[in-house]
Amino acid sequence: MRRIIIILAFAALTLGVGACNSSSNKNTKENTKPKGKYYCTMHPEVTSGKPGTCSKCGMDLVERDTTGK
Ligand SMILES: [Zn+2]
Repeated sequence: MRRIIIILAFAALTLGVGACNSSSNKNTKENTKPKGKYYCTMHPEVTSGKPGTCSKCGMDLVERDTTGK
């Protein structure tokens, strides 16, 4: 019985740490807002200041539409 409690506590701890880590990762990602003019349509977080390809999928980066406004 005691062992189960320890396992549950450990699982909760790991989950808590994991949630913390993933949320802080998200925050840092949002803090590093896309600066580049070019971005991947599949991975908007992948941006570049000059034309190129996505580092994740290799797709051509698309120029951000700045004519909207
Ligand atoms: Zn991509």
